[in-house]
Amino acid sequence: MRISEIFYSIQGEGLLTGVPSAFVRTSGCNLRCTFCDTPYTSWNPSGTEMSPTAIVDTISKYPSRHVVVTGGEPMLAPEMPDLLRILDALGWHITVETAGTIFKDIPCDLASLSPKLASSTPYEREGGKFALMHEEGRWRPDIVRAFMDAHEYQLKCVIDRPEDCTEVQSMLRQLDEFDSHRVLLMPQGQTPEELAKRSGFLSDICKEHGYRFCQRLHIDLYGGKRGT
Ligand code: SF4
Repeated sequence: MRISEIFYSIQGEGLLTGVPSAFVRTSGCNLRCTFCDTPYTSWNPSGTEMSPTAIVDTISKYPSRHVVVTGGEPMLAPEMPDLLRILDALGWHITVETAGTIFKDIPCDLASLSPKLASSTPYEREGGKFALMHEEGRWRPDIVRAFMDAHEYQLKCVIDRPEDCTEVQSMLRQLDEFDSHRVLLMPQGQTPEELAKRSGFLSDICKEHGYRFCQRLHIDLYGGKRGT
């Protein structure tokens, strides 16, 4: 499968924030978020072909046994189930970070589901040529529900503007049952300043509805540099 990068860092987002983890980032995505923070996996995908065995060998050198499979969209990779089955057999704790548009039968300890909101649709970028594809594909409640039923989960939504929260509530209604403490709202931004700009209104919304406010610790710790 095509791998953009493998690195060892601190999980910066979600219920496992702070846990030292190996990160395996696949290249390639079926969406094109306008604010994508890993354009080298989506808008301009690049990477190196690696087998599941080579990936396992690489991350086994790290001292943690937590692995985060991320992207791009990791569920696109045909060999991903094989990789995850090997890691599971070796006793790794597996987090899969996905936009929740493709479901596969995989071993997974935490499905980190990040459905994309209307504010992510790239109407302006590259003449809007990916806008229709993105808009039609970004929200698949049937797929998100399948992940929630199969695994421990967190629903992590990137919030760019206050009206995004109304859309999140509409999405949640389509999912029927959910645990509000597993709904995490994360400010959109790739610098501390951008995050701070959205944190005020977002913390108020979390308090009102009982959702979790989701930090991006790696931006505070490392400035959001690639490989962190
Ligand atoms: S789903 Fe993730 S990787 Fe794909 S374009 Fe959106 S932010 Fe980037």
